[in-house]
Amino acid sequence: MSAVAFLNIGMHGRVNPTLPVVAELVRRGHSVSYHTSPLFSAEIAAAGAAVHLYSGGDQPLADPPTPVNLVEGLARTTVGVLPGVLADLRRLRPDLIVHDSACPWGAVAARELNVPAASSFTTFAFNRRVSSPTRGSRSLLAAAAAQPRSIQAYLRSRRELHRRYHTGALPPVDLGNIRQPLNLVFTSREFQVDAAAFDESYRFVGPSVGARPIDRSFHTDQLPGPILYASLGTIFSADPKLLHVFATALAPLGGTVVVSTGQTDPAALGPLPANVLARRSVPQPHVLARAALFITHGGMNSVNEALYAGVPMLVVPQGADQPMVASRVVALDAGLSIDTEDVTVAAVRFLAQRLLDEPSFRAGARTLQDAQRRAGGYRRAADELERYMRTGPRTQPARADLPPRG
Ligand code: UDP
Repeated sequence: MSAVAFLNIGMHGRVNPTLPVVAELVRRGHSVSYHTSPLFSAEIAAAGAAVHLYSGGDQPLADPPTPVNLVEGLARTTVGVLPGVLADLRRLRPDLIVHDSACPWGAVAARELNVPAASSFTTFAFNRRVSSPTRGSRSLLAAAAAQPRSIQAYLRSRRELHRRYHTGALPPVDLGNIRQPLNLVFTSREFQVDAAAFDESYRFVGPSVGARPIDRSFHTDQLPGPILYASLGTIFSADPKLLHVFATALAPLGGTVVVSTGQTDPAALGPLPANVLARRSVPQPHVLARAALFITHGGMNSVNEALYAGVPMLVVPQGADQPMVASRVVALDAGLSIDTEDVTVAAVRFLAQRLLDEPSFRAGARTLQDAQRRAGGYRRAADELERYMRTGPRTQPARADLPPRG
């Protein structure tokens, strides 16, 4: 029995896949602590972890969530939360730290306390060929140059961190892509772009679905089918007009159209056809288990969950890594993609009808469904973490740009 400490940032998409892993480790007799912010404490406690809150309440997300803002915000948050995190971890004495790939304070804490660490990737894994959105690229530098205050604030935070802590585990810029000797990637090798270019420290464990509290107010089983589902995720403030177009386009094609509005007030969508159900949040994996198609922004978790359920998608990327995810869905015949500026009721209805009528899309999604399920999910993630605690890393600290050994 070991003590495992999870540390994460405040995004549903980052927390959700870790919950079943936490529950599985607890079931296997390990004691699990989890550093988070108040918004997530109930669901993390329900998974069986001891919750530790960061000082300062909910960690505000970068707004807008551009790569430049994200990197600056992560460095600043690291300075703010590390003293409290380190004090907690010194008491908890974990055998292993599992931190999100965009959680720099997890990596610094592991170095400071000399505790082995694993990184959790809820996006694709990235390397030289598969470029991380926060990588120090020309476009990132150009975007940063337009926001000199962000650059100054970033450099200030980095200097402060360097002065106070061992920061050797941190990349100079790419704070959304922090690697460790074990990197758990919550998708399958088949869905990952260029999977062969990642060394053995990257374990593609597939979607980790389960262990979320049951939403008893939403009766997925009683909705008339076929269910058509639309969501633009939990981070971006979805344009109510865009959501309205999805609802209107889908309404004649399905029994029930479920629209998750996320940050947007459902009332802002205005009057909707009678068979449309608009809610801020729905139990997405349950809805997907019954859905005939999914209009999504291409958030990696949403796509992983849809593929886990074998549901074809119409991807409407809104930013971050979503254009890359959309291309992958299209390349693997699991769906179609449309740019936001091309969205009209007629265009969306036409593409949705194709997804429903042409069997190749469901077949493509089903092929990936098999791959996603074979990858092993949260049980395999727990196996990998246990093996790592027993035997240490399989490889030297990863250089993601090297080809696999052997
Ligand atoms: N989600 C949910 N209910 C909703 C909308 C989203 O449970 O109504 C969950 C979804 O299952 C996924 C996460 O929120 O696990 C969204 O993550 P993703 O990476 O797709 O997008 P993000 O919100 O981070 O942009």
